[in-house]
Amino acid sequence: MTELNTPEIAHYIGGGQHAGAGTRTQAVYNPATGQVSAKVKLGNQQDIDNAVASAQAAFPAWADTPPLRRARVLFNFLALLNENKEKLAAMITAEHGKVLSDAMGEVTRGIEIVEFACGIPQLLKGDFTEQVSTNIDNWTLRQPLGVVAGITPFNFPVMVPMWMFPVAIAAGNTFVLKPSPIDPSPSLFIAELLKQAGLPDGVFNVVQGDKDAVEALVNHPDVQAVSFVGSTPIANRIYEMGATGGKRVQALGGAKNHLVVMPDADIDLTVDALIGAAYGSAGERCMAISVAVLVGDSAERILPKLEERTRSLKILNGTNAAAEMGPIVTPQARERIRGCIDKGVQEGAKLLVDGRNFDGAKAGEGCEDGFWMGGTLFDHVTPDMSVYQDEIFGPVLCCVRVPDLASAIELINKHQFGNGVACFTSDGNVAREFGRRIHVGMVGINVPIPVPMAWHGFGGWKKSLFGDMHAYGEEGVRFYTRQKSIMQRWPESISKGAEFAMPTSK
Ligand code: NAD
Repeated sequence: MTELNTPEIAHYIGGGQHAGAGTRTQAVYNPATGQVSAKVKLGNQQDIDNAVASAQAAFPAWADTPPLRRARVLFNFLALLNENKEKLAAMITAEHGKVLSDAMGEVTRGIEIVEFACGIPQLLKGDFTEQVSTNIDNWTLRQPLGVVAGITPFNFPVMVPMWMFPVAIAAGNTFVLKPSPIDPSPSLFIAELLKQAGLPDGVFNVVQGDKDAVEALVNHPDVQAVSFVGSTPIANRIYEMGATGGKRVQALGGAKNHLVVMPDADIDLTVDALIGAAYGSAGERCMAISVAVLVGDSAERILPKLEERTRSLKILNGTNAAAEMGPIVTPQARERIRGCIDKGVQEGAKLLVDGRNFDGAKAGEGCEDGFWMGGTLFDHVTPDMSVYQDEIFGPVLCCVRVPDLASAIELINKHQFGNGVACFTSDGNVAREFGRRIHVGMVGINVPIPVPMAWHGFGGWKKSLFGDMHAYGEEGVRFYTRQKSIMQRWPESISKGAEFAMPTSK
C-alpha cells in the first residue's frame, strides 16, 4: 500500500526528469520520524551512458559560450537560490535530519561558491608575455576539460555538490552529479533552478544511485575528471579507479578533527565552541570536532561544564526552531555509532555522558520511531583506542589529556586523518607555533570549524584527501581547466631559412 503511494525520485538528464533504465530503488527516510518519504531510483550503466552522452553533446556549445555569458547564467541561478533558500533548507532537514538553522547555513555556504563562480571571466584570465623574442609573443590560457563528474556524500546534499558544479560549469565544462541516495531530493530541485536560470539542456545532469552508478561514471571513457567527497575507503578506491583510467581525480575523504584546549583558553568560549562543533548536525560533518585535546590543567576546568552542556543539549525535530541537534541519518548509521561507543567502553575510555539510548518521544510529536541518539562524551581516551583512531561520524566527543602543546601537536600529527583542527588559546605565540607545525589542511585559531571561504579552497591532508587539488577557490578552477601555452609570430617578422638550434632570445 505505502509502496504504491510513495513518490519516486528520478534522474535529471538532458534538461528534464528521467525515470531511467535502472529498476532498483532505495527508500528515502525522514530520520526524525523514521517514516519512508520516497523511493529513489538507482541508476545503472545505461543511465550513466545517457547522462554522459547528454553532457558530451552539450559540451562544445557551452565551452564556446563566452565566460561572461556563462557567468550571467550563474548570476540568474544565484538570484533563484536566494529566493528558494528556505525551500532548499527544508528539503535538507526532511531527508537528512539536521536542524533548519544548520540547513540554512549549509545553503548559504553553497551560495558563496556560486558567488565566487560568477567571477569566472576574471578567474580564467590568462597570462601574456609580449616579445619573448623579437616579434614573438607567448601566452597561457585555461580551457575546460569536457564532461566532469561529481560524487557526493549524504551529509551536505546542497553544499558539497555546490563545491563542484558552479566552478566546473562556469569554467565551460558539462557536469554529471551522482548525489547520495540517502537525501537525493535537493539535487533535482537544483537542476530545475539551473534550467530556470537559462542553463542549456545537458550542461548539468543528475543520476541517482549507489556503487553501480559510481563505478559506471568513474570508468566512463568520456568523463575527464572526477570530484568525490565521502568516506576514506571509497575516496581511496575512486582515486585509484580514476587514475587508472587517466582521469583527474580529487577525492576528499573522512576525518577525525581535534580541538586543542590550552590552559590559557577562555573556558566558556571553548565549551560553546566544542558543543556546537561536536554535536551540531549530530556530528555528521567532515569538519566536526570529535577529539578535545585537553592540555595541562584545562581538563579539570572544562570537563564539568562540558558534561553539563552535553547532557542538556536540545535534541529535537530539526523543524523545531529551538532544536540544537536532530536525529542520526539512518538506523544503520545509528547502530554503527552505538557499536563504536560500546567498543570505547570495552577499551576502557570513561563514559561521562551516554547517548546510546535517547528516547525519540522527547524529540517531539511523531518522533517515537525516528533515528535518535543523545550526545556522548568520553574522558581518558588514549591514542590506541578505536574511538580515537576511527572516524565515528556521530555525536561523540572524545577527550584526550596531554601535558603540553608539543605533545598535542605530536599526537595530532600522528593521526591518519588531517582534515580540520583547532587550537583555543589566548597566546599569540602558541597560535603561531601551532599553525606552523600542525600537519592538517585547515586550521582554526579560536575558530572550531575553519571551513575556508569560497575563494580559498577546501581540502585536508593525509587520508582526508587523495589528489593534489583542493575543492573550489582557485584550485577548483585549475582542477576543472587545463592550461595551454600559445607562442606566436607572423610571417613578416620570420627570417628566411630553417633553424636547427634552440631559439634563444633574439
Ligand atoms: P560514503 O563514502 O558512504 O558515500 C559517498 C558517495 O559514494 C555517495 O555518493 C555514495 O553513494 C557513494 N558510495 C558509497 N559506497 C560506495 C562504493 N562502495 N563504491 C562506490 N561509491 C560508493 O560517505 P557518506 O556516508 O555519504 O558521507 C560521510 C563521509 O563523507 C564521512 O566519512 C565524511 O567524513 C566524509 N566527508 C568528507 C568531506 C571532506 O570534505 N573531506 C566532506 C563531507 C563528508
